[in-house]
Amino acid sequence: MERFSSPQSLQKRMLLEKSEGHRLAIVPTMGCLHEGHLSLIKLAKKKADKVILSIFVNPSQFGPKEDYSRYPRQLKKDFQLARNEKVDFVFTPTADDIYPKNFQTSVKISQISQGLCGESRPGHFEGVATIVLKLFQISQADIGIFGLKDFQQFQVIQTMSRDLNLPIKIIGAPIHREKDGLAMSSRNLYLSDTERQSALSLSKNLKMIRKEIKSQKLSSLLQKAKRNILKEAHTKIDYIQAYDIKSWKVTKTYQKGKTLVALAVFVGKTRLIDNILI
Ligand code: AMP
Repeated sequence: MERFSSPQSLQKRMLLEKSEGHRLAIVPTMGCLHEGHLSLIKLAKKKADKVILSIFVNPSQFGPKEDYSRYPRQLKKDFQLARNEKVDFVFTPTADDIYPKNFQTSVKISQISQGLCGESRPGHFEGVATIVLKLFQISQADIGIFGLKDFQQFQVIQTMSRDLNLPIKIIGAPIHREKDGLAMSSRNLYLSDTERQSALSLSKNLKMIRKEIKSQKLSSLLQKAKRNILKEAHTKIDYIQAYDIKSWKVTKTYQKGKTLVALAVFVGKTRLIDNILI
């Protein structure tokens, strides 16, 4: 496994790899790797000849009151996990490497960045799109792998790639969960035992909606899920909404396979997200 922190060096090396006919896949992450990330790497290994894992806690996608400075970082352990997965290249730039003095460009994807996390985290998707476009350029990847846990992020990246004619295929990977249903997340490390117990209500209620949608109205099920989650200790709902994945608008009616139920819930100070396509 080779490690790079300079964007220029990685790009130069990747251009060489491509000239040798290698198909490259990139898995962008913020590190503190868990099984969810590893499932993306495994998928990347299947789809490409060489895999680039990027680990970068991107300051521009965090709001001023968010957890940028306390976001968990464990590079040494991440390198070991990446090595076990036979990652070929790890890219760990610093913020100065990525945003040198006088950096002034950003990518804004309008409609798809609105609602859900776009509403609660102003500027978040602009930060995400800009760093992802930079990572695509630096890595010269043919394939980008993203988790569907961040469904809106996946939509944003897909839309950006289509709109800007990026020569890259975007692949979505299913949500990886703990045995008890909790969606894996680096932020789960923040949770106390009681909070972790409360956090189970997120996936439980999404599953409840999927099960009961055949016999009950979507709006009643959203209300029921809200009530159930709020019964748990330390929970505060940021949003729980149903979206039509084609029009990307809030929907009140269920359409099989096209309705995304997404939620963001604070459990204590930790903001967790999850979703289900019903
Ligand atoms: P993060 O490090 O949280 O920014 O995530 C990096 C990538 O891993 C993103 O594409 C996420 O959607 C994906 N990811 C994070 N958690 C999971 C999970 N539980 N299952 C599948 N993909 C995930």
